[in-house]
Amino acid sequence: MSRVLIAGGAGFLGSHLCDFFWNKGFDVFCIDNLSTGSAHNIRHLLDRERFTYIAHDIIHPLEIDVDLDYILNFASPASPPDYLRLPVQTMLAGSTGTYNLLELARSKSAVFMMASTSEIYGDPEVSPQPESYWGNVNPTGPRSVYDEAKRFSEAMTMSYHREFGLNTRLLRIFNVYGPRMRPKDGRAIPNFIDQALKNCPITIYGDGSQTRSFCYYEDEIEGIYRLLMSDLNDPVNIGNPAELTILRLAEIIVELTNSDSQIVFQGLPVDDPKVRCPDISKAEKHLNWRPVVDLSEGLAKTIQYFASPL
Ligand code: UDP
Repeated sequence: MSRVLIAGGAGFLGSHLCDFFWNKGFDVFCIDNLSTGSAHNIRHLLDRERFTYIAHDIIHPLEIDVDLDYILNFASPASPPDYLRLPVQTMLAGSTGTYNLLELARSKSAVFMMASTSEIYGDPEVSPQPESYWGNVNPTGPRSVYDEAKRFSEAMTMSYHREFGLNTRLLRIFNVYGPRMRPKDGRAIPNFIDQALKNCPITIYGDGSQTRSFCYYEDEIEGIYRLLMSDLNDPVNIGNPAELTILRLAEIIVELTNSDSQIVFQGLPVDDPKVRCPDISKAEKHLNWRPVVDLSEGLAKTIQYFASPL
């Protein structure tokens, strides 16, 4: 039976990965310090065999006395308000933390996957963004704590691949959404749904003309799994190329919730990317993967989750 360690396993995507691998029969080791993750996301797994939760901050070395086949690094604050609130912690998670997990992977001869991000493209001057695009990142702005830590993590992962022959994967995640996002997470979809359900003003930052491309978590997890099981060591974009403006997103959420909310416009955060859209031709060609859940279907399920008491 294969063993997988998921760092950040109590977070939104991490906890869905714990479920996914557990359901496939893996032995799952979930590592989290609950800085932005939540024990609630994994509570149903805690008493099960083949599931182990270890409270641990990856910025400290991790020793674990079993063999491991796969190590997935999903441990980092990921919502802009979280990483802007936790700049040093974010930098350390994406540098020392990645190093510690790479060392663990080397000692176990495990496959290592780094959860990277579309943020490494910064405010892109090329759209959609192929993996070959090097990006347009402000190296010292407020968002740099996330962008540069993830860029460091990618470079460090490739270093372990080149120097030690470690079997590595670089996953570039674009905006993902779904159940288990926190209503107060601060990102656009949870904010808009939370506001719409309460008939409160919907807060658009800037004029709402900036674009994003949202992938439902089930599609994302399938793409992650196919990448992990592939032999691709170079970066791969896993996201949904259906791009829309943030204003349109807000309008769709108001419609789907039958909300009385009005849209209000607020200041745009520093270095907020103007466009974001994945070029997924590499994933389509090599992983035979593309997202299948359309936005209104995924949003309806997410709204249902937000509307039901936890
Ligand atoms: N955004 C917004 N209102 C909110 C939250 C976010 O207009 O209440 C905007 C944000 O400025 C960005 C886009 O929505 O342009 C997506 O933001 P999110 O925080 O979801 O993720 P990002 O793609 O910036 O990492």
